[in-house]
Amino acid sequence: MLTLTVNGKRQDFTAGEDGKLGLPALIESLGVDTRRIAIAVNGEVVSKADHAGVTLRDGDAVEIVRMVGGGATGGPAQAELDGADVVIAGAGIIGCAIAYELSRRGVSCIVLDSRRVGMAATNAAGGILAPLAEFRRPGPLVDLGLRSLRRYPQWVDRLREEVPDVDVEFHLNGVLRVALDEREMEELRGGLRYADELGVELVELDRSLVREVEPRLSAKVAGGVFCPDEGQISNQHVTLALSRAAQQRGARIVEGAPVTGFRRSGSRVTAARTTQGDFACDRVVLAAGPWTRPLAAKLGANVPTKPIRGQMMALGPMATPLRQVVWGSRGYLVPRANGLVFAGSTVEDVGFRFNTTQRGLAAIRRAARELAPQMRTLEEHFTWFGFRPGSPDGLPILGPLPGWENVSVATGHFRNGILLAPITGKLMADLIVEGKDAELAAFAPERFAAG
Ligand SMILES: Cc1cc2nc3c(=O)[nH]c(=O)nc-3n(C[C@H](O)[C@H](O)[C@H](O)COP(=O)(O)OP(=O)(O)OC[C@H]3O[C@@H](n4cnc5c(N)ncnc54)[C@H](O)[C@@H]3O)c2cc1C
Repeated sequence: MLTLTVNGKRQDFTAGEDGKLGLPALIESLGVDTRRIAIAVNGEVVSKADHAGVTLRDGDAVEIVRMVGGGATGGPAQAELDGADVVIAGAGIIGCAIAYELSRRGVSCIVLDSRRVGMAATNAAGGILAPLAEFRRPGPLVDLGLRSLRRYPQWVDRLREEVPDVDVEFHLNGVLRVALDEREMEELRGGLRYADELGVELVELDRSLVREVEPRLSAKVAGGVFCPDEGQISNQHVTLALSRAAQQRGARIVEGAPVTGFRRSGSRVTAARTTQGDFACDRVVLAAGPWTRPLAAKLGANVPTKPIRGQMMALGPMATPLRQVVWGSRGYLVPRANGLVFAGSTVEDVGFRFNTTQRGLAAIRRAARELAPQMRTLEEHFTWFGFRPGSPDGLPILGPLPGWENVSVATGHFRNGILLAPITGKLMADLIVEGKDAELAAFAPERFAAG
């Protein structure tokens, strides 16, 4: 006979023939459905994978915790430690996209954020969906961007059905890249040769055609290349829709709950510690944008994200809005549904400096006016900044965290996190649910393991 304290109540249990009581036998005798619970023995959460290896001793304290979404039928009552199958640190667009994809597959999630949903880089972005942004040559990032862009229409259709009161302002109305002189035009032409290989349409426009496409452009614009396949979205609204859709499917978002550390058992994380308590889990995803580096460091791992500040400005409203995103070598203009134009952006490696600067805003103003002189006459409504999650090689960091069995990373999306959200959600859900990581090879956190 063994006496255990189960959820605060002392109870006697019959030991097995060998005089021992294993955790699985205890669970069975209590009639608990293990799919929806977390178990702590003497205060330490035991992951499901480790249940079989735990032998209980006389006097042990066992806590059986009902997960979010609930349903430990017939088991001991009160939940003491909150938890879910997956805990995601960071409720930017990336954390929300992962929570959405996981919850569609029936996986329970809790998303923890120090602030409110989507209030960091995700809120600061321009919402441009342009995998060919800087006409880099074909490679893993452009491929990933194109795959993500192609998922967008279906993703948005689903979100519109699930969250009909949020208009995500999604338009595949093209991106117009413009050149201010012949040298820039030559650079743009350089990208045209990849059109077939990438399977995109790219249309070269001369000086007069470019103004037919966008009449408000400056006379200085020497030509351009139009990509009708690209587009834009409201980064704020799509993140709101994602977080709502995930919550409708049982995910939980806890705001004002920074992850401050982790409970571990061997090479597994068993719970995320926050200022609002600990959250038990089978898996953890680190999706804290540029703050992923210090979070991973708490697990002794190297995820070298770097904050790259971007400043922005809202101008307008324009009586006749621009027809699509206009992208120049020194800045871009994004027409938004409310008639304002978002003008951006600086790219500054200055660490976490939480401010705009006169110099940065002046550069944005100059670039905006150079593209479309009308910008000079528009009111400056507001200015802001955000920190892009940069990585040393410019590629996202997606996949298992080296040294840990149940920790994954999804960050480093730099200038393209809004674009890359659908594909990131899918690939991370494939990894977590099905263990598939082949498509993540180029982005694996492992590439920084030695550094
Ligand atoms: C000015 C600007 C313009 C941009 N324009 C575009 C664009 O047009 N198109 C595009 O595709 N991309 C654009 N981007 C890039 C895009 O915004 C980012 O790549 C994307 O938002 C990254 O999302 P994220 O969820 O990884 O990070 P974030 O949005 O930064 O979210 C990370 C979250 O983690 C939380 N967090 C931090 N530490 C902790 C902790 N310890 N515990 C819990 N939570 C924590 C933060 O509070 C934050 O909410 C732009 C970025 C900027 C700054």
